Amino acid sequence: MDCLFCKIANGEIPAIKVHEDALCIAFSDIHPQAPAHLLVIPRQHIASIAQAGKEDQALLGHLILVAAELAAKQNLSKGFRIVMNTGDDGGQTVHHLHLHVLGGRAMHWPPG
Ligand code: 5GP
Ligand code: ZN
Repeated sequence: MDCLFCKIANGEIPAIKVHEDALCIAFSDIHPQAPAHLLVIPRQHIASIAQAGKEDQALLGHLILVAAELAAKQNLSKGFRIVMNTGDDGGQTVHHLHLHVLGGRAMHWPPG
């Protein structure tokens, strides 16, 4: 499958990795939108949260907890934002489920 994030997960395409375990990896976003901008992705290809099922429940919980652990490691004690863009209207550009972890500045609401 021609998927950018599958290639990053299997090491075919390099990335600045900040976490790796049996279920997921995390790395720096190539176009950071905040002083801290990480992506957390499952090793398994799931196109988006809209394609995830009940069988993915534990994996999805793991991704969120890893995102929070990484935010703590990056000293984002003032807060951070976890984002999962989904589909065209959600602004998703890479069709392999991922969590953005953004921090290091105050976030705006509502998002654009
Ligand atoms: P989306 O727009 O799908 O929510 O997020 C995809 C993210 O992947 C974007 O923030 C984009 O900057 C990031 N991205 C795209 N290509 C690469 C790449 O080759 N390496 C890394 N590290 N990030 C990428
Ligand atoms: Zn993939």
